[in-house]
Amino acid sequence: SNDYRVVVFGAGGVGKSSLVLRFVKGTFRESYIPTIEDTYRQVISCNKNICTLQITDTTGSHQFPAMQRLSISKGHAFILVYSVTSRQSLEELRPIWDVIREMKGADLATIPVMLVGNKCDETENREKNMVFVTPFQWLGTYICVPRLQPSFRNYFSHVPCQLKHNDEIKFNKQWKILYEKTKILINLQINPKLFIQKVATTEGETEASRWGCNFMETSAKTNHNVKELFQELLNMEKNRNISL
Ligand code: GDP
Ligand code: MG
Repeated sequence: SNDYRVVVFGAGGVGKSSLVLRFVKGTFRESYIPTIEDTYRQVISCNKNICTLQITDTTGSHQFPAMQRLSISKGHAFILVYSVTSRQSLEELRPIWDVIREMKGADLATIPVMLVGNKCDETENREKNMVFVTPFQWLGTYICVPRLQPSFRNYFSHVPCQLKHNDEIKFNKQWKILYEKTKILINLQINPKLFIQKVATTEGETEASRWGCNFMETSAKTNHNVKELFQELLNMEKNRNISL
């Protein structure tokens, strides 16, 4: 047929619907409305003919594997979305990727696939909420330092911009002196749920090269790289000449 079908996969809440709506309608909403499955259509040009770009925005959960397989079998190109504020959402893409790979088999090499790290605007919120976790050698425990107290920052000699569990932060001498004077760290709660594991750009790139697909960071909120995402995905299609 004359349709070119793009399917958008990813965990719930990563911003699939937001990316699609931003691209198709140019809008963005802050509220979260879970999707069942929606398809949007746009007229594009394909081998100099008019054809329909169909974008299927999926539910994201694994609740409907039959629907997932149907979308994969019908899809010509795939957008796999995670949120840079959730490492888990990147991990949840792997089983979907495995099904795509299994179902597309030898054709996979010619199928446009884009791995997308959405919500790349979230840096500030992320930092506001961030707590630092470190194996604090001379305490023999993990210490979380709420970022909300900016004065603490002066006591760090080295702060990585993204922290993972077990990441080490080096404290400088003043910190140690402050600690020894006040024992303030003892009162800090250790709450692993508090620390937000930002997915670094390089992690997305590494995953994409492992999968043999392309990679982009986007923000549906600020409209960063949204049009570029679809543009580039369609450029990856080598069997036909598609343009927006
Ligand atoms: P979906 O379940 O993957 O379809 O996710 P939605 O598109 O419904 O978005 C989930 C929530 O994330 C909503 O509250 C959106 O406003 C928010 N959101 C989506 N994209 C972005 C983004 O690029 N940046 C930020 N900060 N929030 C976003
Ligand atoms: Mg949705």
